[in-house]
Amino acid sequence: MSNEEYKNIHEFDFNLICEYFSSIERQGPGSEESTLKALSFIDNLNKESVIADLGCGTGGQTMVLAQHCAGTITGLDLFADFIEIFNRNASTLELENKVKGIVGSMDNLPFENESLDLIWSEGAIYNVGFERGVTEWRKYLKKGGYIAVTEASWFTDERPAEINDFWNEAYPEIDTIPVKMAQLQKAGYIPVAAFCLPEYCWTDVFYKPQGEAQRFFREKYPDNPTAKELLDNLNHEEKMYQQYKEYYGYVFYIGKKL
Ligand code: SAH
Repeated sequence: MSNEEYKNIHEFDFNLICEYFSSIERQGPGSEESTLKALSFIDNLNKESVIADLGCGTGGQTMVLAQHCAGTITGLDLFADFIEIFNRNASTLELENKVKGIVGSMDNLPFENESLDLIWSEGAIYNVGFERGVTEWRKYLKKGGYIAVTEASWFTDERPAEINDFWNEAYPEIDTIPVKMAQLQKAGYIPVAAFCLPEYCWTDVFYKPQGEAQRFFREKYPDNPTAKELLDNLNHEEKMYQQYKEYYGYVFYIGKKL
């Protein structure tokens, strides 16, 4: 296969995944309640505050933040179509003066050092890895600024081999809550809080709306192997969650830059 062909197939996969997720409000487990609970740990935001939401997707959590805190928010995502939907949502909600979506990558952020009061990132830091993300992003925060991210975490020290293997394949950096808190401390933050996202953030908010999206996708791409593989993977992931949810989930981690 030529490089060009490989690139085209790769881009097609990426576009297909993004098309699928564009049709649902959140692209990862989460909820308005969890976003607001995390926000309750953050002090001192005012209308001068500068906030970044990294890997914002179409902005489900960003709009909630904008409606409940002072300051301006830049949402950043690698995928331009998500940002287009993000900016459309901001304007529908009349938040365009507070919220702006830009295309960019979380491993090469367009912010000045010590310019941000708060870095937010739900269901997205895994793209660079938790430890690397919290370490590298720290320089963009002002002293006393906060970071609030969700990250897949083990709830127990031990777990069945099937789910252990599944995650080690998907995201080997998954670890227990004390390990993640220690990483936050080592990276130069006070570990302010950690709390587990409730089960409905996965079932009702993330998986349920996918039923409709999957029906639509099956009809639109009946013979497409990439689409089939995507749906098969998502269904397997959901099955794993149903079976093993007592062993893992998303955890919100909140740290304050020393
Ligand atoms: N925060 C949103 C989206 C989570 S899905 C929510 O909770 O609903 C993960 C997001 O990370 C996707 O929108 C994906 O496009 C984005 N992403 C992946 N790699 C990225 C990178 N290197 N830089 C910025 N965004 C990235």
